Amino acid sequence: MGQDSTILDAVIVGSGFAGLYAIKRLRDAGFSIQAFEAGDGIGGTWYWNRYPGARVDLECWDYSYSFSPELQDEWDWPERYPTSSELMRYLNHVADRFHLRESIQFNTKVTSAVFDEQANLWNVTTSYGKTVKARFFVPATGVLSVPKPPEIPGIETFGGQTYHTGRWPHHEVDFTNKRVGVIGTGSSGIQVIQALAGKCKHLTVFQRTAVFVVPAKNHPLTPAMRARVRATYGERRAISRLTRFGIAVPMSSESAVEATVEERQKKYENAWENSQLLGFRMCYGDILADEAANETVAEFIRGKIREIVKKPDVAEKLLPRGFPFGTKRPCLGDTYYSVYNRDDVELVDLRATPIERIVPEGVVTSDGLHELDVLICATGYDALTGALTQIDVRGLGGRKLTDKWSEGAKTYLGLMTAGFPNLFTVTGPGSPGPLANMSMSIEQHVDWITHCMEHLRDHNIDRIEAGQHAEEAWMQHVQEIVSRTLYLKANSWYLGANVPGKPQVFLPYLGGHGTYRKKCDDVAAAGYEGFVLRHRAESEAANEPVNAGHGEAARSAAAGMLGGGA
Ligand code: NAP
Repeated sequence: MGQDSTILDAVIVGSGFAGLYAIKRLRDAGFSIQAFEAGDGIGGTWYWNRYPGARVDLECWDYSYSFSPELQDEWDWPERYPTSSELMRYLNHVADRFHLRESIQFNTKVTSAVFDEQANLWNVTTSYGKTVKARFFVPATGVLSVPKPPEIPGIETFGGQTYHTGRWPHHEVDFTNKRVGVIGTGSSGIQVIQALAGKCKHLTVFQRTAVFVVPAKNHPLTPAMRARVRATYGERRAISRLTRFGIAVPMSSESAVEATVEERQKKYENAWENSQLLGFRMCYGDILADEAANETVAEFIRGKIREIVKKPDVAEKLLPRGFPFGTKRPCLGDTYYSVYNRDDVELVDLRATPIERIVPEGVVTSDGLHELDVLICATGYDALTGALTQIDVRGLGGRKLTDKWSEGAKTYLGLMTAGFPNLFTVTGPGSPGPLANMSMSIEQHVDWITHCMEHLRDHNIDRIEAGQHAEEAWMQHVQEIVSRTLYLKANSWYLGANVPGKPQVFLPYLGGHGTYRKKCDDVAAAGYEGFVLRHRAESEAANEPVNAGHGEAARSAAAGMLGGGA
């Protein structure tokens, strides 16, 4: 982009799905880039999540890159839902095939990023103390990458081995003859519980909130199945880009409350038998918006739990209650409920007998000590903002990102935050990110960012920033959309409710992937409406924004447009 070879066009943080694709796209577009990765290998979330049973619960033909037809054609997925090691194999293949590794410095944490407003450059400092200068800062740090500890007194005194699912060691952990405890029953806990039942001496599950778990129906893929998928990849991806969840499964617009009991039963049985993560949510248009509609699904799944779990008292504890179906992320698992029929698996209901402390011998709940050799914390993440706020990011006037977001993250379109020019957040808060197909959300964001940077380069613009009014209007719109749904009725990580002291603001955009993609494209087509752009010559002369058509009038127009709802 510029002449000075010591100044990079962009620093990228992370080498998971997002970081790898950002390296590829920005490099192909002719930008000089450097990526930093804290781990000693690529893979991002999959690099750290190697716990037994770890696998993605979107199907491989959706949870994979779509940018290269050749890559799609040559890659053989062995199973419907790839394991973490299969995903690592895939991502390593992508890194090798497109020569991405050469742009990544491993074992290097980015510790700070400070914007120099005179020079319009980000000074990015790493754990080695070295600072690099770049025009753009692109954290591709993932939405679920900073593990959340369980905040239980005495945890450091435990005498056995302690693990967090989100920081699993890279060596084999032997569970033979071990008494294992798992705290947490979200997606990670559900997977690790299924994998360890029967593989250790005794498994104790500490459950605070029972979740909805629907069958995964995972199976190996035959060559014929793979050929069928390949033949329709193009069409599938094109449809997915327009849908609410970024996958090519039609969403019904019918109402669950208006359907007869028989109609509902038939649909729900079909969803149970031919399940995939979003199956139940697709059955009726009002499931995530109407409590009575939602309760029909919830009660159907509770009925299945009662059928599978033989001991009625245990089944009763496993019944999810107190939040609508889908408002905490549902989980997938083929054997989850049946593991509780085993004599060597015990469920501890923390609502009835809360954890008091951890001691060297194990976990003490209000009904006594549960002796353990291994303690697994499947207690989740400081989601959506944790990885960004771990970096000491400072924007205009030296303002810290943590100060700006002290009452909740604010962005325009989940792509930029006002006061922090030339910083793009890949699948940042305020975008659909984790409420749609993540790999598709990542590609959409990275493509948009690349086009934006090309536009700036072509028009000699050296600064872009989210407009204050556009940002406020967008965040208002994000809240407006969620308020029409049931999502605010659950203490979920979407809301930051799982991290003590975190501001509780619902951060993912719920208007749907397709709608959101169009909005981003429209904003770009209108000359980056709502953003403030500054020409290089103007930067040198003054600090006043001058982009014709992109000033206050355009920002007000954007505010009006966005306030109208999706
Ligand atoms: P999570 O959904 O946040 O679940 C954390 C669990 O730990 C919850 O059951 C929570 O209980 C419990 N917990 C937290 N602190 C606790 C404490 N002090 N005492 C007792 N229990 C405590 O985290 P996760 O399972 O790691 O999943 C996070 C997200 O990662 C998922 O929603 C999903 O998006 C993604 N993920 C995906 C996959 C996949 O694709 N297969 C696999 C794993 C994760 P409460 O509910 O009561 O807070």
